[in-house]
Amino acid sequence: MDKKYCDICPRHCRADRESGVGFCGVGREFYVSRIAPHLWEEPPVSGKRGSGTVFFSGCNLRCVFCQNRDISHGGKGQAYSRERLLEKILLLIENHNVHNINLVTPTHYTDALVPLLSDLKSRCSLPVVWNSSGYESVESLRRLDGLVDVYLPDFKYASGELAGRYSGAADYLSVACDAIKEMYRQVGGVRFDSDGLITRGMIVRHLVLPGERQDSLKVLEIIKDLLPIKDIRLSLMSQYTPDFALDCQYKNLHRRVTSFEYDSALKAAIDMGFDGYFQGKSSADKSYTPEF
Ligand code: SF4
Repeated sequence: MDKKYCDICPRHCRADRESGVGFCGVGREFYVSRIAPHLWEEPPVSGKRGSGTVFFSGCNLRCVFCQNRDISHGGKGQAYSRERLLEKILLLIENHNVHNINLVTPTHYTDALVPLLSDLKSRCSLPVVWNSSGYESVESLRRLDGLVDVYLPDFKYASGELAGRYSGAADYLSVACDAIKEMYRQVGGVRFDSDGLITRGMIVRHLVLPGERQDSLKVLEIIKDLLPIKDIRLSLMSQYTPDFALDCQYKNLHRRVTSFEYDSALKAAIDMGFDGYFQGKSSADKSYTPEF
């Protein structure tokens, strides 16, 4: 981290991460909960051999329904120096022949990841995937230009009221729009290799939430107006799992997404001309969530 007081993400909480933690819950060192091949991402990311996934601990968004809350809210994980983390990533490549390196929830480590990714790029040619919440500052993203090949951001909410209620981030929409435009500026249109694996570009993810179908429809309209949709892929997810939100005050989050809710978002996406990855309702199960 260049500055003593952290300003990496749009929270701008200016925590001193040398001596404490910020809203994201972690200090200066990398905290990682799992480094392993992952077979449950979108097909062109996971392929047959898996995506080489690094699950970072802590999160700068911390949604009330998060399915990885032990690591995102609880900070469960192991500390790594930059050198040790790079070594583990290189071992993952060597031992498992993964298709790419997939950094999950990396936003709050952006500054520390810039030199690590520079080293990694000089030693391997696999695509680097930035798998994030979309709640990121343009200034931080610019530092990743040339280091990230594939952006895999969420686009969670259209409504500031919902973003405030579920993620404490009422400014989510404007922040995510700017972030996603910057990601597209860096990587351009989506590209695949001869095996159908993604090598460059963007997959934008949206999770349909129970009771929030209208917001999903607005999200799709916003993405369509923001980016040339033929250049991206959409991942429309139905995997919302209520098990992680049963203690929250929002009763609609205590159930799964209905077929009607997901199918109407799916129909709207298809009518708008999106191409991408669409889930069956069987994915809305706790077993879809990896063990950490
Ligand atoms: S990355 Fe963490 S410490 Fe830094 S501004 Fe964001 S929430 Fe605060």
